[in-house]
Amino acid sequence: MGLNVIMMGPPGAGKGTQAGRFATDRGLPKISTGDILREAIKEKNPTALDAKARMDRGELVDDDTMIAIVADRLARPDVRDGFVLDGFPRTVAQAQALDELVKRLEVGPLIVVDVAVPEHELVRRLAGRRICSVCGTNAGPSDVDACAACGGELVQRIDDDQGVVLERLRVYQQSTKPVLEYYSERPTFRVVNGAQAPERVAVELNAMIDDAAAARR
Ligand code: AMP
Repeated sequence: MGLNVIMMGPPGAGKGTQAGRFATDRGLPKISTGDILREAIKEKNPTALDAKARMDRGELVDDDTMIAIVADRLARPDVRDGFVLDGFPRTVAQAQALDELVKRLEVGPLIVVDVAVPEHELVRRLAGRRICSVCGTNAGPSDVDACAACGGELVQRIDDDQGVVLERLRVYQQSTKPVLEYYSERPTFRVVNGAQAPERVAVELNAMIDDAAAARR
């Protein structure tokens, strides 16, 4: 039975890093739908160019396109010992399609890990800089609340990039959070505390996946 892992988590949780590390450690292919889309854009694939505008705005690419990409990828022979999915499924419709696919390909059950990080921590991680609301001095991401130059209140600076980041968080809450509910009752569903140091997350994640794999039998 293959080790079929889905790495879930909000943008900024570090799930891509953890997925890559786990896949390398276990000799499994990491399948990142974001990477596949970016690759297709580079190759000027017409479907991917449609997707690019949505990606640039922080919105989701449509389910049919994403499901077709993953169906194609999971049909390749290198997934026979398992795979680590990063960035898919992001909607309940994608999760349902994946269940169908896994059943059809007879690859065995899915192990789902949620790398959970509280929203305020994500915003802190993702919002690179803060500025003084009084004099405009750039303070960077520090823990102090007062401006070093004038003592004014430091506030987050929402520029275009951060607007996209916040949109991605909103999309996550609205479309992807329900996927966790979809999986939450399964004996192979686990949650790791992603607010810890990456090393610690990796250790716990490894143990949880092995434990979940044992729960499949
Ligand atoms: P990622 O690198 O996983 O953060 O993905 C980058 C962007 O690609 C996302 O913000 C979406 O626009 C798009 N994308 C990646 N995977 C999916 C998916 N499963 N469903 C819909 N859109 C996706």
